Amino acid sequence: MARLLENFVDGGWRASRASESLDVLNPATAQVLAKVPLSPAEEVDSAVQAAANAFAAWRRTPAGERIQPLFRLKALMEENLDALARTITEECGKVYSESAGELRRAIENVETACGIPVLMQGVNNEDIASGIDEHMIRQPLGVVAAITPFNFPGMIPFWFLPYAVATGNCFLLKPSERVPVTSWKLFELLERAGFPPGVLQLVNGGRDTVNALLDHPLVRAISFVGSTATARYIYSRAAASGKRAQCQGGAKNPVVILPDADMEMTTRILADSAFGCAGQRCLAASVAITVGDARGPLTGQIAEASRKRKVGNGLDRDMEMGPVISAQSKARIEALIAQGQQEGAKVLVDGRGKAVAGCDGGFFVFPTVLDEVPPQGEIARTEIFGPVLSLMHASNLSEAIEMVNARSYGNMACIFTTDGANARRFRYEVNAGNVGINVGVAAPISNFPFSGWGDSFFGDLHAQAHHGVEFYTQTKVVVERWPRDWSRRF
Ligand code: NAD
Repeated sequence: MARLLENFVDGGWRASRASESLDVLNPATAQVLAKVPLSPAEEVDSAVQAAANAFAAWRRTPAGERIQPLFRLKALMEENLDALARTITEECGKVYSESAGELRRAIENVETACGIPVLMQGVNNEDIASGIDEHMIRQPLGVVAAITPFNFPGMIPFWFLPYAVATGNCFLLKPSERVPVTSWKLFELLERAGFPPGVLQLVNGGRDTVNALLDHPLVRAISFVGSTATARYIYSRAAASGKRAQCQGGAKNPVVILPDADMEMTTRILADSAFGCAGQRCLAASVAITVGDARGPLTGQIAEASRKRKVGNGLDRDMEMGPVISAQSKARIEALIAQGQQEGAKVLVDGRGKAVAGCDGGFFVFPTVLDEVPPQGEIARTEIFGPVLSLMHASNLSEAIEMVNARSYGNMACIFTTDGANARRFRYEVNAGNVGINVGVAAPISNFPFSGWGDSFFGDLHAQAHHGVEFYTQTKVVVERWPRDWSRRF
């Protein structure tokens, strides 16, 4: 019988009294790993109350002391990296090296947040008028919450958690109900890191759990990562109850290849970007736009690289790609490939209907390449979120940039070229918040904000670094005067 996961509230593990739970499946085998409760509103309320009660003491704890549990957490995450990476692979499907890689990114965010005593500093001016000084200081908000997606269960909670608690807030995580085991294991480490009870809570659940958080009057800020439809909904419902919100949505990332690009390097990087994590990355390349003579060589080489990719259980270290997250996801991706065919695209490499030895129940779609994808069709615009690369062709860079900027999403755009002036023009003109130049996954490291634009982001302050610090703090401006005649005692 699979274990029903507990919530972590007020410093301890609590069994949920939810009337409903969901099975958590290993997508490579369809084996049930655990059960996740769909926690009701009363349990959200208990967790928020615990956080609110802990806030008064936590915000008074000096920043230099607040980061000590984060230093211990970093050490615990390093020590447990192998076990955590295996858990990510088991419940999310990506290959082990990808799981270990996302944990490194999580640890980097813990390291960056350890700089809070400096990052959180205010500013001041002496003598804004004679004898009057003005200061701006940063203070925490109170109780803040993050709602996270399935595709990076180890990394994405850490775009938020370290900054939230280091700045003096109390934090609540609602992880994806499809991959809750990683968060459960990470909270076992957070418990050992020595945060006071109530500073951190884990509440499992789905839609109703999220709604209870969005409507709770004591929750001051919501961080969200997931699909665009949910991001848009969460942004407006959070705002309606007066909360700050930063909501990262879906993507459809174009990569432009100029004829002067190093085709061998470009093909390798493009294949890793399109098929890494089985295409379930918000920074996955999903459309490759070749310019002029790049078309012939790139098309042949990417088709060959796609056919060669080793697909199987991500725990097998020889594998380069695992399954997609669920049977529903596999069916949706296969239906979109069929739709692409109906719209006139040519299926150059077909990843449908392929079996993996030893993984009979697994949700596998192999790398797929669609050529001559019509720019106005559904396939050119919809986020597929699977290992499907669409090829489109432009006659010059201007046309390629127009195709890039025609999308509603703006998470990432990349260019491959050896010409600096063309690269600069691309960087300058494309509507995307993360830009790659001869880079296929332009993921900002923890000391830069993760800068989605357009339908890929709702809000103003992004995740990570200075943006995270600003998001989780409110500014207070103090104007002060101390007349000389009040200080005569000394
Ligand atoms: P999702 O939107 O289905 O779910 C994300 C979270 O929202 C989960 O915790 C889920 O429980 C909750 N949720 C889902 N529907 C809800 C609803 N109607 N009301 C309230 N809560 C709801 O996303 P997913 O399938 O888990 O993740 C994949 C998506 O996330 C893709 O679109 C991908 O591009 C996007 N993503 C974006 C980024 C980024 O940085 N922009 C990063 C990773 C993933």
